[in-house]
Amino acid sequence: MPRATVARIDLGALKYNYQLAQAKAGAAQAMAVVKADGYGHGIKAVAHALADDAGKFAVACLEEALEIRAAGLSQPVVMLQGVHGREDVELCFQQGFEPVLHNNHQLDWLAESSAPAYWLKVNTGMNRLGFRPSELPAVMATLDGAGQRAELQGFVTHFACADDTSSSMTREQTRIFEQATKAWPSLMRSVGNSAAHFLPDQPLYDWSRPGIMLYGASPMIGKTGPDLGLKPVMTLEAPLITTRIIKPGESIGYGSTWVAQSETRMGMVAIGYGDGYPRHAGTGTPAAVLGQRIGLLGRVSMDMLAVDLTGVPEAQEGDMVELWGKTVSVDEVAACAGTIGYELLTGVTARVPRDYH
Ligand SMILES: *Cc1c(COP(=O)(O)O)cnc(C)c1O
Repeated sequence: MPRATVARIDLGALKYNYQLAQAKAGAAQAMAVVKADGYGHGIKAVAHALADDAGKFAVACLEEALEIRAAGLSQPVVMLQGVHGREDVELCFQQGFEPVLHNNHQLDWLAESSAPAYWLKVNTGMNRLGFRPSELPAVMATLDGAGQRAELQGFVTHFACADDTSSSMTREQTRIFEQATKAWPSLMRSVGNSAAHFLPDQPLYDWSRPGIMLYGASPMIGKTGPDLGLKPVMTLEAPLITTRIIKPGESIGYGSTWVAQSETRMGMVAIGYGDGYPRHAGTGTPAAVLGQRIGLLGRVSMDMLAVDLTGVPEAQEGDMVELWGKTVSVDEVAACAGTIGYELLTGVTARVPRDYH
């Protein structure tokens, strides 16, 4: 009999969150970002669930774009990191992939094959990828000269601090982007990760790019997904495989880091960092059983972790514990582990089966 540990995926919640993103995008269209295996939810199932609604998908790399085609879907797929080799350009053309090109090598490769529809990345302050605004006129002149302007869809930029409502960075990047692209008003513009959808008065132009919000986790500092009106899509669950009474002075697990002050009823849960549950989540990190919130005890092991069942005497071996989902948001667990919901969702390992509803 297989271990009952599972990530339940609520595709109805996914569709709900996409509709919310589209509503917040206003006149812009929301392309569905499904990179990193659909943020750990399974790219094929996620793409199928959103296929009727999302006009484009976005991924990081070619392998992910090909998975969307392997799922039998024919929508345009934007490749946010451009292409990694010259031969990829022809493949993009054949497959209807739209790479976001960010350096001169990639532009040179355009000339060597049939050019696909493509975008140009503009660096407005993130300083990871893209052409500086001052370089754009020369880039555009080169593309014109080479007859490669027809396939250019438009300009893309990415915000560094949209998760922080107190930062002025997004406003400044927006100003720089408008200034940099205004000479080509017929081309499209794409800005806006999930966080930008929650900023008042933030223009999203033609195409916004929501990712994490589709999965019901928060893009904003200090808020959970449900705080923002999002529905959690993944519920990570594992069974209680034993319960026992720990006496005062006894400890649990590696390093004996947690020592009972009073008699404690604990349960062992069949999930650990080998499944992607964060080892940095310490004593007190929330979980839930039978609808009631409980806390972790001691260190997370590779295959199991301990929880405090003292307040839930009816919880028994075989009952399922929610590690995150509808009762405990992944954002709360992430905060306890010193990280963000993105890392937890994308980190659920292949050992955990995904169960779709
Ligand atoms: C990942 C990514 C997104 C989506 O970001 P979220 O914060 O998950 O919404 C948007 N644009 C680019 C360029 C990205 O790399």
